[in-house]
Amino acid sequence: MKTILILLLLVVITIPTSLTFAQTAIDGFSSERAAAERRWEEQFRAIPNQKSAREHLRRLTLEPHIAGTKEDYDTAIYVRDQLRSYGLSADLKEYEVWLNYPNTPSLLELITTRRQRLNTHEAVVPGDPSSSHPKITPLFNGYSASGDVTAPVVYANYGLPNDYEDLKKAGVDVKGKIVIVRYGNSFRGVKAKVAEQNGAIGCIIYSDPEDDGYMQGDVFPKGPWRPVASGQRGSVQYLFDYPGDPLTPGKPAIAGTPRLKPEEATDLTRIPVQPIAYDVARTILSQLKGPLRPRGFQGGLPFAYHAGGTSDVKLRLKTDMDYKLRTIWNVVARIDGNEEKDRWVVLGNHRDAWVFGAVDPNSGSSAMLEVARGFGELLKQGWKPRRTIIFCSWDAEEYGLVGSTEWAEELADELRQKAVAYLNLDAAVSGPHFGASSVPSLWKFIRGTTRDVKDPKTGKSVYQQWQDRARENRPEGDQNLSEARIGALGSGSDYTPFLQHLGIASTDMGFGGDYGVYHSAYDSFYWMDRFGDPGFHYHVAAAQLWGTLAMRLADADGLPFDYTDYATQLRDFFTETMRLARIRNLAASFDDKPMTSAIDDFVKEAEQLEKDRQEAVRKSDHARLTRINDALMLAERQFIDARGLRGRPWYRHQIYAPGFYTGYAAQPLTDFRQAIDDRNSANTKESLERIVEAIKRVTKTLKAAD
Ligand SMILES: [Zn+2]
Repeated sequence: MKTILILLLLVVITIPTSLTFAQTAIDGFSSERAAAERRWEEQFRAIPNQKSAREHLRRLTLEPHIAGTKEDYDTAIYVRDQLRSYGLSADLKEYEVWLNYPNTPSLLELITTRRQRLNTHEAVVPGDPSSSHPKITPLFNGYSASGDVTAPVVYANYGLPNDYEDLKKAGVDVKGKIVIVRYGNSFRGVKAKVAEQNGAIGCIIYSDPEDDGYMQGDVFPKGPWRPVASGQRGSVQYLFDYPGDPLTPGKPAIAGTPRLKPEEATDLTRIPVQPIAYDVARTILSQLKGPLRPRGFQGGLPFAYHAGGTSDVKLRLKTDMDYKLRTIWNVVARIDGNEEKDRWVVLGNHRDAWVFGAVDPNSGSSAMLEVARGFGELLKQGWKPRRTIIFCSWDAEEYGLVGSTEWAEELADELRQKAVAYLNLDAAVSGPHFGASSVPSLWKFIRGTTRDVKDPKTGKSVYQQWQDRARENRPEGDQNLSEARIGALGSGSDYTPFLQHLGIASTDMGFGGDYGVYHSAYDSFYWMDRFGDPGFHYHVAAAQLWGTLAMRLADADGLPFDYTDYATQLRDFFTETMRLARIRNLAASFDDKPMTSAIDDFVKEAEQLEKDRQEAVRKSDHARLTRINDALMLAERQFIDARGLRGRPWYRHQIYAPGFYTGYAAQPLTDFRQAIDDRNSANTKESLERIVEAIKRVTKTLKAAD
């Protein structure tokens, strides 16, 4: 599902560059091992190619392949057989999970002085051969309830709590009404939940042309942006509560696991929710009366938006969902490590798509197959990775990270003991601009590796292109920034169970661009070939970069994790949250000294361990490196608190989780920040204490390597 990494590039920070390695040096490798590693890596990067990447994408996007269907199964078999043809052992891994499809396309009627039937499908676009495919999924939301409701319509902007407060102030009550909200500023599951909480009986979500339509540029097929008759499908699961199969929270969806009744699942909405295109939204919104809305509520349609709510403009929304336990198929392949078989580097990408999914997610699947093909070749030439590498092709990510969550829940104990890192790739390519999110301990590693992969368009390194763009987009007057920012992991893709449930260091990345066809029928091979990556150069770059990252983590003598960046990041998060606490007059209700001193101790220990690691690598002191590597791997686990976050025990990471009202975006120092937003001084105190405890555990783990 993951979208718009590109935004991360617009924010830049100042960190001095201190890369003084010689040409052949690689962080974590002794000088003689670095030379060998570099040769293997160069051999690897010569293997992924445009023709092969293009063919994978063509093959994977031939049919709509929504999770649990025969067409989805066919893509699993394609991926498995490709992996096997490269000499890797690969198998399907099945789960039985709760999924919905529309029995029939949803019915939407505008009722004024007459009844007008409105479209709930996307139009055929001349020129795009796949847009007339007979099996294109109608517009619907994953995990919407079934229902048949008729009521006055209220326009509720982005559908966030403050939008409803604004409406209330304007005298508009949404209770018993159908709300129409626009995409943007929050995950769509948040929009459904807040609508339900405010008493709405139905929720319609549309793509405003201001967001990804004609206000951005030419629309498809002339340009890459969303055409008028296009809508955004997507899940409305409350994934900020818990992701995965709604009926087996925290447990794998396999035989023997007791299942909740659907009405017991707390991550499902009870109201019908329906996405629509903006030409349909135009028909509805242009009829609305009631108070004129302020500037923050206005969008890109050619009239002033009103709140509605009057009884002379009603909608009928009927959704008819076929809910069942359905089989989904992950594909898992592994290359056993030569020296440390029980240390795993896990690479994951989802395969299921709402329709064809050329960008989201199959650009990533194509890149994954190219990485695997490359590794297969290297193995034949005698490459022996030190650690185990696992490739995962996830299913049902679009419904709520289902395939990855079930697998992580099933293998939880083993992953806790063995996983060094999880490297995610979702929508790998929609343009030429690199962006990344990760835990801070891997920032230097990501930056360092991007220096060694060429950006296809400029011929510079990916690193250079990334930094140049960050500088171009830096805020006015900010002269001394030197590096592009790596974002915080929230949710919205498959790293969530690894990082936020199990405490495994994770990364997510991709090349972004003008991507206006997210979750539509036009996210097709044709779109990619024409707009996203003509020539497939960036698919190759994505494979080269992802593969190089995996090789380094798998082969390094001393794992290239640096926790000093984590400490710096924590200090910044804390400073920012304290600023909010002061604004809200909450700063006096707790003591900030334990946190400050826990971070100070953390910095000291992280700096010491970094020195020790460099020295042990230089001396090839393997006994010491084993202790250091274990500490580096296990330190992230210590951010996990088994009690979970307040009101959502599945999320256990004390620093990173999606916010209740962002849904995708991270809300760092999650519970502490939430308590401040809630102006709850008791919760503020308690959540800060838990964070301090977690940081102390991390520091202790790093110290254990001494
Ligand atoms: Zn995706």
